[in-house]
Amino acid sequence: MEYRNLKKQYEVLKQEIDEGISEVVSAANFISGSQVKELERQLAGYVGVKHCISCANGTDALSLALMAWGIGFGDGVFVPDFTYFSSGEVVSYAGAVPIFVDVDPCTYNMDPDRLENAIQRTLREGKYSPKAVVAVDLFGLPADYGKIRAICEEYQLLLLEDGAQGFGGSRQGKRACSFGDISITSFFPAKPLGCYGDGGAVFTDNDEWAGLVRSYAVHGKGSSKYDNVRIGINSRLDTIQAAVLQVKLKAFREYELEYVNRAAEWYGEALKDSGLVLPEIPEGYFSSWAQYTVQLPEEANRGEIQERLKAQGIPTMVYYQKPMHRQKAFAGTDSAKADCPEADRLCKAVLSLPLDPYKEKQEIMAVADAFKGALK
Ligand SMILES: *Cc1c(COP(=O)(O)O)cnc(C)c1O
Repeated sequence: MEYRNLKKQYEVLKQEIDEGISEVVSAANFISGSQVKELERQLAGYVGVKHCISCANGTDALSLALMAWGIGFGDGVFVPDFTYFSSGEVVSYAGAVPIFVDVDPCTYNMDPDRLENAIQRTLREGKYSPKAVVAVDLFGLPADYGKIRAICEEYQLLLLEDGAQGFGGSRQGKRACSFGDISITSFFPAKPLGCYGDGGAVFTDNDEWAGLVRSYAVHGKGSSKYDNVRIGINSRLDTIQAAVLQVKLKAFREYELEYVNRAAEWYGEALKDSGLVLPEIPEGYFSSWAQYTVQLPEEANRGEIQERLKAQGIPTMVYYQKPMHRQKAFAGTDSAKADCPEADRLCKAVLSLPLDPYKEKQEIMAVADAFKGALK
């Protein structure tokens, strides 16, 4: 069994994807072809924001947002402790300091109360000036934007939504990648909406920031890329990837998002009496199920369970092995001083199961049965 069956998806969409790629190659418009602009319009429309600026990957998208806001030396940016490395890496790369915040063990997302504590502590200590919050939509579930937005307003912080895993999710009818002052997503192949390589996008309603992101993404361009008004980077989405994404976005909207939710529900039913902590979607929220992540009982041996499942041809993954504040890259810095007991515990307890929109009910049931067996 595939952990995420991208081969099956290609079989289904092959004709359209092949045509899309072949058009780009025939026209030889590999960089900034018309498909890129079309895709940006479609993505902005789907998410419900004014501007979408595509770029080379999700990490660059985060960096571009921080560049547009001028975040750098002396600034503090609040980041959940349980996430993919990029969410905090970009803050250090910008010269600022990531301040890691513990997460809610039910949703895996940033705990708003812990966020407020961290902001107050940072203000008291006076070493870094609080500038922004990176809220991550982990495993497909939007963060608690009701509370997080209110906290950002109270302390005048900018809100950056890391929707790399969140694309397609929603909260009270509003779609992911529209919650931040700037939001981003990633089109890494295994994300909810993935391309055939690296890709990413920035979303915002703010005209000025959109202009700055467009400029920073193309060598700080002014009127053209040969007129350089600021120091930027080179971060564009290839036309081939845009062509692939146009086909995949259509399938995503028409049925993939619905099917992956159905598959997650099958897991929920099949595993409800298994003694595992199952992912919980709070009232009013909708997940795009980037991962189906359960928590094992404390006494369970995760490595052994993974081995038993692997012997039956069932791949599993551990997202994430290590909380951010324990990554070696932050050793010796103030970022390592975070106190995040929930993230520490989750890193030992979580296990993610195979999931994608193309899984049949019997496959999900087979994984659930094997899993229950492996737990004994
Ligand atoms: C994947 C991911 C990123 C980075 O995206 P890339 O396209 O791989 O650079 C950032 N944040 C989170 C939460 C991610 O899962």
